[in-house]
Amino acid sequence: MAADSASVTATDTHTFLTRVHDYAESVLRPHALRTDRDGVPSARIGELAELGLLNHLAPTEYGGLAVDRDTDRRVHEIISGACFNTWLVWAQHAPLAERIIDARAAGLAGCELADRVLRGRLLLGAGISDVRRYPDHYIRASRAPGGWTFTGTISWVSGWGLNAALTVAAVDPGTETVVTALVPVDEHTRSDTPLTLAAVAGSRTERVRLDEVFVPDEQVLSAHSLDHARLLDVGLASDARSHHFGLAETVLRELEAVTDPQARHVAQTWRPRVAAIRTRAYALADEAKAHGGGPHRLDERLATKVASGEALSTLTRALLIARSGRGLGRDDTAQLHARSALFVLVQGHSADVRRAQLAALAR
Ligand SMILES: Cc1cc2nc3c(=O)[nH]c(=O)nc-3n(C[C@H](O)[C@H](O)[C@H](O)COP(=O)(O)OP(=O)(O)OC[C@H]3O[C@@H](n4cnc5c(N)ncnc54)[C@H](O)[C@@H]3O)c2cc1C
Repeated sequence: MAADSASVTATDTHTFLTRVHDYAESVLRPHALRTDRDGVPSARIGELAELGLLNHLAPTEYGGLAVDRDTDRRVHEIISGACFNTWLVWAQHAPLAERIIDARAAGLAGCELADRVLRGRLLLGAGISDVRRYPDHYIRASRAPGGWTFTGTISWVSGWGLNAALTVAAVDPGTETVVTALVPVDEHTRSDTPLTLAAVAGSRTERVRLDEVFVPDEQVLSAHSLDHARLLDVGLASDARSHHFGLAETVLRELEAVTDPQARHVAQTWRPRVAAIRTRAYALADEAKAHGGGPHRLDERLATKVASGEALSTLTRALLIARSGRGLGRDDTAQLHARSALFVLVQGHSADVRRAQLAALAR
């Protein structure tokens, strides 16, 4: 990330965060229930682009803001706290500018599609989680002249219908190479099975079939061994991340607004605990990054992620209880937040995360 870019000042960053915050409070939060019911509207993608949110990590020569890690975390907290469905759709796209810059440094991703991502001109979806299920289920990558052919069904693609292209991770079973590439959405990529989701129902998440999609080499972002991909996934899946804390902040605020002093007392008790989990999670993730990713202090990171999921489960239950029966109505945010918290428990769900969560529940 070009965080040291001379043209990005603290004032630019402050102005950017203020604009994102104002947008989140005036548009995302008031429409969060409707977005969950009807789906993230397509107009929203233009609004995110307008705010610079489709290339906030890109270097300034691409028109990006090259924001630093702390600012990026704040943006994730603000958006997830205001509308978890919009966050999930946007989060599939958000980190890719940085990934493309890294790929280009390695002589990859020279295509025009990657340029358009860096310039914030389109929204990417992601189909990367099936690598976790290899060899039971995965997208097959087969070498072809000048590129690869991808075939298979991606289990989860959020933002379907809004995405112009996808980041897809496929496995070549012969060499156990994981190939991650940009794939345009066209007649070779189609929704396979309609999903009826109990959480993040407005995230336009679908199962997507890739039919012998040819992926030219210049669209490839990385190609490395399955072992290395699993190592990188430890970094991706093992930490409590910003959206946990965005959601927690919203629930704490709503608990603090309840007239019943007992509900406010729950918020009072949990606010410092959530703050401590957040500080710890970010410090551990930073430390792991400084050590080149991988399983650095893995057990502590998993324990922190478990604690964060537990905090969200507890807080969202408290809000439901505080709102009494009304909390279960479709027009009440308590049920929306409780369902979002359920999603957090399965998102980025690696075998390690699953083991840590179930072990904690059995104690
Ligand atoms: C609504 C929704 C939207 C999503 N959107 C996206 C998206 O846009 N892009 C994307 O890439 N991903 C997306 N995901 C995937 C998500 O991040 C997780 O990776 C996914 O939920 C893991 O669940 P799975 O269904 O793949 O689980 P599973 O296939 O059950 O496996 C998940 C992990 O658990 C382990 N596991 C499963 N069963 C067992 C067992 N019995 N014993 C031990 N270990 C086991 C597996 O080894 C694997 O590592 C989405 C998921 C959901 C639910």
